Amino acid sequence: MSRLLDVLLTTDPVQRARLSQAGLAMLLLAAGVVAMHYFAWIGEARLAPVAWWSAATLAGMVVFFVLIRSGASRRWHEPSLTVPQMLFALTSGAIAYALVGVGRGAVFPIVMVILMFGMFSASPREMRWISVYAVALFGATMLLMSLRDPAGYPPALELGHFVLVATMMPAVSLLAGRLSRLRHRAHMQRAELAQALARLREHTTRDELTGLINRRHMQVVMEQEHQRCVRSGQTFCMAVLDIDNFKPVNEEHGYAVGDAVIRAVAQEALRQVRASDVLARWGGEDFVLLMSDTRAALARGGLERLHQRVGALRILHGSMAVGVTLSGGLAEHHAGENVMQTLERAQRALAEAKTSGRDRVVVAP
Ligand code: GH3
Ligand code: MG
Repeated sequence: MSRLLDVLLTTDPVQRARLSQAGLAMLLLAAGVVAMHYFAWIGEARLAPVAWWSAATLAGMVVFFVLIRSGASRRWHEPSLTVPQMLFALTSGAIAYALVGVGRGAVFPIVMVILMFGMFSASPREMRWISVYAVALFGATMLLMSLRDPAGYPPALELGHFVLVATMMPAVSLLAGRLSRLRHRAHMQRAELAQALARLREHTTRDELTGLINRRHMQVVMEQEHQRCVRSGQTFCMAVLDIDNFKPVNEEHGYAVGDAVIRAVAQEALRQVRASDVLARWGGEDFVLLMSDTRAALARGGLERLHQRVGALRILHGSMAVGVTLSGGLAEHHAGENVMQTLERAQRALAEAKTSGRDRVVVAP
């Protein structure tokens, strides 16, 4: 049963909503068809016109369903075809009103339900025009029938019906239009909220200066990589990178140049790492690099290249070009050790790189 519905209504949630709405409308008109045949059966309506009306009504609804299901309606302004379906159903209701004689009061509740479909997507303005159409259509039908068949459609009775239609239909349309606007507003607010949430997430996981992942998020990423490696039996490496003698850069050229240097180093480093590696800004001018699925011997080659490229960088500042060097400490994750222990070994290797003269990469034992 659910597979049949998947085929009929698709699994795309938006299409499914449109098609189930059209399907519901079809069921509603099918109930109208049954009622009409009942009136024909008890002798209140003639069978031939009722049969024609039934065929046209059901065929019309099938056409709407096919237009939506095939995706053809996607090209239109309103792919759910709510307004055209409502206009069609109202017209069909007015014809039923003319065919069914004494049973015609049954048309009113059906028309009200048709108008309620507007709350799904018709704007208040569209609902106003639909109610004008409905009142004019039923008014004309009542006038025509009371002229053609005054015995079956007495003018005084039709006037009463018209007053009812002319007051109730605009009221129902107004309510449906309001509901539609509320739905629309709630939808917009949800979208804005989702956007704000995405921005907030970006804020809390990224470093503003470099655009790299920040320390907090990196800790989460490191933990995830660790878990993944424990499960798969693969090894990863961690590197800590620190700009050499950075304090003098700030002191000689100013903090803004210092910032530009940090940004340039981060960008160059990011260009050098593999797509599967994760680079984060850990503190002021130090970075942590997570290299997945690799052993120290291989990781060292990549890190040496990164070290060289950053060393060759020249950051322009006025007529001057500022250059910096990097020191790096590299550690391969050992089985049984947690990520922080791996990171500490990389930090010890970095300290060794600093004390042994800077501008080099040291691999932890
Ligand atoms: P070493 O080679 O031992 O790493 O020397 P260093 O001068 O680079 O080391 P230290 O850690 O003592 O200095 C880091 C400096 O980085 C201190 C701080 O003023 C500066 N710094 C930290 N964060 C930022 C930042 O966001 N922008 C700028 N411009 N400077 C920063
Ligand atoms: Mg430093």
